[in-house]
Amino acid sequence: MNPVAGHRLGQGTWYMGEDPARRNDEVRALQLGVDLGITLVDTAEMYGEGGAERVVGAAIAGRREGVTLVSKVYPHNAGRTEVQRACERSLARLGTDRIDLYLLHWRGGVPLAETLEGFEQLRAAGKILAYGVSNFDTADMEEALGVPGGSALAANQVMYNLRRRGIEFDLLPWCRRHGIPVMAYSPLESDRREQQRLFSVPALRQVADRHGATPAQIALAWLFAQEGVTAIPKAVQPDHVRANRAALDIVLSAEDLAMLDAAFPPPSRAVPLDVL
Ligand code: NAP
Repeated sequence: MNPVAGHRLGQGTWYMGEDPARRNDEVRALQLGVDLGITLVDTAEMYGEGGAERVVGAAIAGRREGVTLVSKVYPHNAGRTEVQRACERSLARLGTDRIDLYLLHWRGGVPLAETLEGFEQLRAAGKILAYGVSNFDTADMEEALGVPGGSALAANQVMYNLRRRGIEFDLLPWCRRHGIPVMAYSPLESDRREQQRLFSVPALRQVADRHGATPAQIALAWLFAQEGVTAIPKAVQPDHVRANRAALDIVLSAEDLAMLDAAFPPPSRAVPLDVL
């Protein structure tokens, strides 16, 4: 069973675990999300250099069973042997004996075959239940599929939101054809200025008003309407966590979707993958 399947919404953790003064709020936000049913949690050894994984560990202590944990390995730690050690460090910080989905954070210098061999060893040892990749474009996915272990890829995590729809031209259809879920990161545009630019688009505000919702909720509801996509917004403010959960209940009409398409046109040609 693919660990991402069945989750349209998860919780991101980038920028968590960096400031001790915010730690309690971050732990509580994740716990609130899990209580509300947002049980997929996305983290990485990179975030806060292990700090975010520790925050997640604190948040899921005593409730590991109900949570789907996703973490990511740095490309420079993705060698056959190094990845075993990196995973052990992540497990210790997360306070668990297994990661549900372990991703290569982006492509680096280590040959894919080595990383996938390392992932297979971790899976055989029960340290990870599934593995996948992040920031892989279509050509990378094609290449990965040809490498031993490539057919087991359980997700590709990429940037995807209303303003960044490039993957709809080729990568998203490719992933759908191969039954590989896409995890949409920065679904709300993490950069504050870019986020304001997104939220102030009149069509988005209009659709939001129709539903008595916020632009952020509509941006998420639009992602939920995309087949094979899981959105992983990061939220520390409790109102944001609740709003993101409530967005799951918004059903966009054909007219809403047409308005959003007009304001945020889908790609008409191949474009390079958006990467943060
Ligand atoms: P994001 O989730 O699109 O945006 C986060 C920002 O949106 C925060 O400032 C958050 O505020 C705010 N926010 C959350 N819910 C909101 C709501 N309902 N209304 C208004 N504002 C809201 O950006 P992101 O953190 O870049 O992406 C999400 C996750 O994807 C990351 O945390 C990480 O787990 C993952 N990611 C992966 C990669 C990769 O290379 N694989 C790259 C980037 C991100 P508060 O926190 O103050 O509530």
